[in-house]
Parts: sequence; structure tokens; C-alpha cells
Amino acid sequence: MSASTVTRCRTVFPNPLPSALPSPVPTELGIDSTLQDLQLSDFQLDANCHAQQVTQAFEHNPLLPGVILTESGQFWGAISQRRFWERMSRPYSLALFQGRAIRFLYKLVQTELLCLSGTTSVIEAVQLSLQRSPELLYEPLVVQLGSQTYRLLDAHHLLVAQSKIHQMTLALLRQSSQQLEVANLDLQRLASLDALTKVANRRHFNEYLASVWQQAAQFQSSLSIILCDVDFFKRYNDTYGHLAGDDCLQQIAQQLCATVKHSTCLVARYGGEEFAVVLPQTDLSVARELAEAIRCQIAQLAIPHATSSLSERVTLSLGVATAVPTVHSRLEALVDAADRALYAAKSQGRNCVSIFEPVPTDLLMPEQG
Ligand code: GH3
Ligand code: MG
Ligand code: MG
Repeated sequence: MSASTVTRCRTVFPNPLPSALPSPVPTELGIDSTLQDLQLSDFQLDANCHAQQVTQAFEHNPLLPGVILTESGQFWGAISQRRFWERMSRPYSLALFQGRAIRFLYKLVQTELLCLSGTTSVIEAVQLSLQRSPELLYEPLVVQLGSQTYRLLDAHHLLVAQSKIHQMTLALLRQSSQQLEVANLDLQRLASLDALTKVANRRHFNEYLASVWQQAAQFQSSLSIILCDVDFFKRYNDTYGHLAGDDCLQQIAQQLCATVKHSTCLVARYGGEEFAVVLPQTDLSVARELAEAIRCQIAQLAIPHATSSLSERVTLSLGVATAVPTVHSRLEALVDAADRALYAAKSQGRNCVSIFEPVPTDLLMPEQG
């Protein structure tokens, strides 16, 4: 080799060579990571350098994926360490190539290179890499970072990165499905609440009543409901305004919840100024006592109602009905009975509890014809 050839050699890899490359996969990998985020090897030589220089570098660092060859500073080719040793271990190869320019060896071992931009995603690079013919699968990839900036990427490092990204994706997927579940539960809860009073809405009342009705039919237990209606509420609105009316309904709803504490009982807004209480496993006398307690406590809230014909405060009328349903009974009959009881309470002068007892059998039976 002439002295001028030696001066043309350019070793870009840090000198002295490190004994081992840093961790192949940086910790800050994300699902959108690209090839330039990975540990890339920067070992370049001028194609006119002696093969001996490559031998020394590879002996010093068996983890180097290969060498990038340049000519006049331009990318010329790349040889993987595996192919290099494969060729050098053949008989006479050492004698043949050691003292010659690496370009001669390169021409013999030249393989199809997969050259990708540094902005290629790891996932896409793996897909392209796996499309190579099987004997090329473990060849390093050439990664182009700039117009004349090239690096090598170990195929194994690429797969390790892909596997980490896969794990990360799974974890993210699990996390989002958990978040979705929580959001769905929130949504379900919101969909079952009345926006103004925050107690159950009519839809939830219907669903809940249907489910406890079936249980009561199955276990032959008593099921009671109380319907509550604010007395002279139209006048309340007319006197104090609609917003004050809203506020009054909210206070009543809160008080109902405070009085009806059992977890299986449900307080719902039945209509405009009407509330309903569902009481599973509750007989008529207990339901009646509870209705009376509700009536007293609403009166004790002492919400002024100057235009009520009954009292200076807001009052409730309540209707109570109880049934021990059979599989043939009609749920609507129980609601209808409570509604009749409420009507009776209104007729009896309001601010009182009326009961419907017993629910006539014909009301509970399916309608004929
Ligand atoms: P009664 O003693 O016979 O029950 O008389 P009432 O005035 O309470 O009954 P009526 O059915 O005549 O009027 C109910 C009123 O409730 C009329 C309606 O404007 C009012 N209302 C219904 N929903 C709301 C609401 O969400 N907010 C307010 N502020 N008022 C409501
Ligand atoms: Mg009403
Ligand atoms: Mg009313």
C-alpha cells in the first residue's frame, strides 16, 4: 500500500474503539420511535483502507454490526461483521485480503443493502427488514441520517426495540381500555341521573323497579313504592320564580336521599315535581312509616311557601302501595296503585300520606283479551 493511500483512510468510529457498544435500546423509546432514536453504529472507513484495519476493529469490538465504506467522503457500501469474518475465515483469505484495500473484499461479499431514512419508524423498518430474503435477515440496516451521513443498525437491536415497543403498546392498550371502562361507568351513572336533582331519573327508576319486581316475584317478598308530589308547586314557581323552584326541588331530593338510607332503596325523580321511592323487601306498614317520616322532614326543611293554601312551608303529598308479585303480576299495577294513593292524598287535603291497600288481584293480573 502506498503512503498516499493510507492518508485517504478515514476512521470515523471513536478511537480507541470501545470494548462494547452501549445498551442497544435507549430507555426513552416510544411507540412512534424512529430509527434515529436507536443505537446506531458509526464505524466508517475509506474503501481504499486495508482490510487489516477492519480486522482489528472487529476483533476489538465483536458487537460492531459492520463497517460503512466511503469513497471521497461519499457512501460507497457496507459490509457486515458476520460476512466479513465468513469471507476472511476461508482458506487463503487472510493472506489474500489483509494487505489489500477493503474494496476488493467488498466486491466479493457484496450483498443487497436495506437502506432506510433515519425518520423511518421502528415498526415499518421491522416490516421492511422481514421482507428480505432469509439469508439477509440478520444483515445490519443502513440508516441515512443526512445527505451524506450513514450509520449501521444491528438487526437484533432493531428487533429488541420492536419488542419493547410492542410491550409498550400493549400496556397503553390495557391502560386505555381501563380508562374507557371507567369513562363508560361514569357515563352510565350520568345517564341514569336526573340532571337537576342528581337522584335517579325516570329511565333508571323503570329499570330498577323492573329488576326488583322480578326478584320480589322470585322470592315472594314485599315490594313497596312511594310517590311524592310537591303541593301547590305551580304557585311556588309563580311566587318565587322558576330558579327558586329548581332550588326547592334540589333540597327536597337531598332530603329524600337523607331519609331513605338503605342501599337497596332508590330515590328517583318521577316527573316534574314528583319523586318516587322504590323499597324492595318492604311491607306496607314500614313503607307507610317511611312516607310519614319523609313528609315530616320535608316540612321541617321549612322552605317558605307564602302562596300555599295549607301551610307557610313547602309540603308533600305521598301515596304508598305494596305488592307481593307473582310471575303473572303486572308491575304497572303497583305504580298505578301508588298513583291512586297519591291522588287520594291530594283529595284528602294534601300534606298527608295515603295508602292503597291491598292492591286488588285484578290489577295484578294480566289484562284479558
Ligand atoms: P298540586 O298540589 O295539585 O300538586 O298542584 P301543583 O301546582 O303542584 O301541580 P301542577 O301539576 O299544577 O304543577 C306542577 C308544577 O311543577 C308546574 C311546573 O311548572 C312545575 N315544574 C315541573 N318541573 C319543574 C322543574 O324542573 N323546575 C321548576 N322550577 N318547576 C317545575
Ligand atoms: Mg304533580
Ligand atoms: Mg304538585
